Amino acid sequence: MVSSCLLGEKVRYDGEGFQYPEILALSENYDLHPFCPEVSGGLSIPRPPAERSGVSILTKNGKDVSAEYRLGAKKALDYCLKEDIRKAVLKSRSPSCGKGQIYDGTFTKTLTEGHGVTAELILAHGIEVYTEEDLGGLK
Ligand code: SF4
Repeated sequence: MVSSCLLGEKVRYDGEGFQYPEILALSENYDLHPFCPEVSGGLSIPRPPAERSGVSILTKNGKDVSAEYRLGAKKALDYCLKEDIRKAVLKSRSPSCGKGQIYDGTFTKTLTEGHGVTAELILAHGIEVYTEEDLGGLK
């Protein structure tokens, strides 16, 4: 599974996506399954930026969107299990997809240790998670 936004799909909160040729090139050796947990959880494009604050996900205006983020995480896990997906390349620092480091909930671009809710859930089910900044030797 690959974060949809890393494959150029315009699903980010600001309506943009990214181009990463090295991730597209993984299609030579892997079936790439794009997935965006936030859109799958029912959030719109564009949408207000949100950050993880403990167990909650809050928008910059303080709206609690935890339910949508957690639904998206569950749908991502269900998809991985259904498709027998063992590896995921997810967008770094996202409150959904981030692995190891995420923004700290203050909207000041401050990083803290932790995972986004989707990365956390699929890691807990044994799926290997990489980021666009650390493909872990995948090619
Ligand atoms: S939820 Fe993940 S896939 Fe969707 S836009 Fe955010 S980082 Fe990209």
